[in-house]
Amino acid sequence: WVAHQGSNAPPEWVAHQGSNPPPEWVAHQGTCLSPPAYRTDEGQPWVLPVVKKVEKLIVADNRLNHEYLPILGLPEFRSSASKIALGEDSPAIQENRVGAVQCLGGTGALKMGAEFLRRWYNGNDNMKTPVYVSAPTWENHNSVFANAGFEDVRPYKYWDAEKRGLDLAGFLGDLETAPKHSIFVLHACAHNPTGTDPTHMEWTQVAEVMKRRKLFVFFDSAYQGFASGCLDKDAWAVRYFVTQGFEMFCAQSFSKNFGLYNERVGNLTIVARDADNVRRVLSQMEKIVRVTWSNPPSQGARLVAITLNTAELFAEWKDNVKTMADRVLLMRASLQAKLQALGTPGTWDHITQQIGMFSFTGLNPKQVEYMIKERSIYLMASGRINMCGLTTKNIDYVAKSIHETVV
Ligand code: PLP
Repeated sequence: WVAHQGSNAPPEWVAHQGSNPPPEWVAHQGTCLSPPAYRTDEGQPWVLPVVKKVEKLIVADNRLNHEYLPILGLPEFRSSASKIALGEDSPAIQENRVGAVQCLGGTGALKMGAEFLRRWYNGNDNMKTPVYVSAPTWENHNSVFANAGFEDVRPYKYWDAEKRGLDLAGFLGDLETAPKHSIFVLHACAHNPTGTDPTHMEWTQVAEVMKRRKLFVFFDSAYQGFASGCLDKDAWAVRYFVTQGFEMFCAQSFSKNFGLYNERVGNLTIVARDADNVRRVLSQMEKIVRVTWSNPPSQGARLVAITLNTAELFAEWKDNVKTMADRVLLMRASLQAKLQALGTPGTWDHITQQIGMFSFTGLNPKQVEYMIKERSIYLMASGRINMCGLTTKNIDYVAKSIHETVV
């Protein structure tokens, strides 16, 4: 913690730091509010109990081996992953117009979708079609699409900094003026980095314009379960768009909701007009996968497939997801309550209104700098924090530091 202390640690800490700093100071040193992943209340990575259980089942299963998987991936993984996104009773699944590609994480799913669209969407090898990503967004969106050959990756209005919420009018305005057939990357839930999702009513407005203006829907679903603790609630937008007859892509990541960050488990769900179109898309996808990673790795996909296809394990997984989501909700509620109790100027309702792992605190770059230099609390320059960086041990310190920064 000495290394993390920052240049201007209060003198009483510096004086104490060698021997026996009081425990509450130790807990407060070098507080990282932007860990790259979920953390427990002890600040540790969490291997989901259901994952540990399934790992044992895999080791014990003598029928399994390390042969290549099919190019498009493990069939039982692909179909169960798509079912999680679209719902068991999805009309598109019943009509056999859903296909899937096992990918290397959510990033791989975005990459496969982008590569396909550049080659085949809206005319052959069309790099001119605009791709719209939210402002702000997960930074990699820009690069993945640009790297696939799209020359025109643009922002669409999303975040209203003043009201610390969705800029619906701006969003709808950009949908109205985008060239027909433009591609829009939409965060399915728990928007990264703002933690702000459209309401159901707002999604219906977005869908109406997208349909009328013939815009392509590319969902990015990296946090299913993390927003509300419920997989079905978090898939509402994706499922609503399917009921509205859209053909679409949905990039799914199992990194966060299974805690399988380093196994690279993702799925690209394809919803097409009919079964014949799914076959055509998958046949082209096979070619793209072949020259990219040839065939995917098996361990993570097996873990997810066994879990999703076994009733008791599936129930246990949903419970594990809820544990993670509930911890985030608890940290949100307690940070807001502590700031209100301290009488910190400004409104802090956005802390609990935002959902998922990330929160836009509304701290400006100067305030962020103060938090880092004077309080050794590390967060993004944009003011974004990962709520999992908060624990019952450091939350008082963080709240007091935000208070001091703001007053
Ligand atoms: N999409 C969003 C919005 C993300 O935040 C992330 C990861 O942080 C991803 C996609 C990529 O997920 P993965 O680690 O599975 O590639």
